[in-house]
Amino acid sequence: MYVVDPTTEERSEIPETPVGAIPEQLELAREAAGPWGLMPAAERAAALLPLADALEAHEEELARLTAKDMGKPLATARKEVLRTAGGIRYLCRMAPEWLAPEVTDAGPEAGYTEFAPLGVVGVITPWNGPIWLSTVSLLSALLPGNGALYKPSEHSLRTGMALARLCHALPGLPDGLVQLVVGGKDHGRAVVASDVAMVALVGSTAAGKEIMKTCAGGLKRVSLELGGLDAAIVLRDVDIPAVARKIVRIHCANSGQICCSIKRVYVERPAYARFLEEAAAEAGRVRVGDPHDDVDMGPLAGAFQLEKVEAALADAVRRGARVLTGGRRLERRGFFFPPTVLADVSPEMDLMNHEPFGPLLPVAPVDDWAEAVRLANAARYGLTASIWTNDASLARTIASRLDVGVVGWNAHGVPPLGAPWGGAKESGIGRTRSREGMREFSNVKFVRIPAV
Ligand code: NAD
Repeated sequence: MYVVDPTTEERSEIPETPVGAIPEQLELAREAAGPWGLMPAAERAAALLPLADALEAHEEELARLTAKDMGKPLATARKEVLRTAGGIRYLCRMAPEWLAPEVTDAGPEAGYTEFAPLGVVGVITPWNGPIWLSTVSLLSALLPGNGALYKPSEHSLRTGMALARLCHALPGLPDGLVQLVVGGKDHGRAVVASDVAMVALVGSTAAGKEIMKTCAGGLKRVSLELGGLDAAIVLRDVDIPAVARKIVRIHCANSGQICCSIKRVYVERPAYARFLEEAAAEAGRVRVGDPHDDVDMGPLAGAFQLEKVEAALADAVRRGARVLTGGRRLERRGFFFPPTVLADVSPEMDLMNHEPFGPLLPVAPVDDWAEAVRLANAARYGLTASIWTNDASLARTIASRLDVGVVGWNAHGVPPLGAPWGGAKESGIGRTRSREGMREFSNVKFVRIPAV
């Protein structure tokens, strides 16, 4: 298959895994998963821990592959590698505790609950955080004792292949436990249709719906970490210029291509004009350019992303949105699109209902927080949201009314590892990266001990 460097638009060919080989790969993973699943969790964690050192040792190589695959600025890609190494150490430290059998007081009979492996998990990942998301997903499957059919995104293949090589080189990991499937959506479909015990997808809501339908046939487990249309609710009591600048920077990270980027902003009416002025000024200061240079934003990941962003913008403008900054692709080779702040947006616009997954920041005025909550909850997505206020008690009240998986107070996005991660509504099913998450990749088995 062909992959395209989003900075240079250069095409390269990468050999695919034959789809027909997937059942055989599944068998190999299953054979390896047998003894792996019987090992104590602490031994499995010890076998996976050296992956952290391996990532650090390959930091530059992995960062450059990421930049070439999907255009992430090198400095950010290096941070992603190091953050992932830290994440591996954390998950390997915590997993034995999270997976330890628990004595349960089950009334007259005693017993214990153990967290047994499921078998082989189809681990299907996206391109936007190719090291972090793939590694965390793989560890979610492997630490509880499962094997993995790992299908990285077709838009971050070189990075995914490098990560698989590092896994394969781990001396403590049984041969065959992690099987790499190189290919596109049809390869993902073949993984889902194979006899895996569970499918863990990090990807779009559309893919999640299709996967869930297929999995229904065999009642396979799913873990679905899907898209978001995250709202930031800004109340008038905060330092508006400072919050506007922060929100623009959060939004622009990874060129707006993060599941939990801020994708809608609701500002209390008295602060609306000031917010827009400062947001537009900050967006103008964002440096967009070659990811190998000192920039804040690289290109979008590909032509497919550019088309999505341009279509969402055209729809918004047609329906009356006002473009304050950006608004058109850069006139140069590569899929570059600048941060685009939009005013006068309305609820029926596409970008207020479907994730555009790019640097479009619509800002709408609201009469009060209750209206902001109503509009935030009107979306079919429910990944994360944030509340910007100095009133702690009001922040809690608003948090309790938002239909999302994670709420930030004067902060937005991913919580620290260990906190349950996942979405509400069409942003997904299940939680990962935590005690709850690790157990979702396990068969929760109760063993009865007869009373004597
Ligand atoms: P995508 O759904 O197009 O692809 C993700 C992966 O799924 C790829 O490996 C792809 O080949 C595979 N795939 C796609 N359709 C499939 C199908 N029908 N059956 C099996 N496999 C299939 O998403 P993307 O463009 O790679 O990633 C962006 C999306 O991922 C955005 O919606 C973003 O919000 C979401 N995302 C969510 C999280 C989260 O934690 N909730 C994190 C990152 C990205």
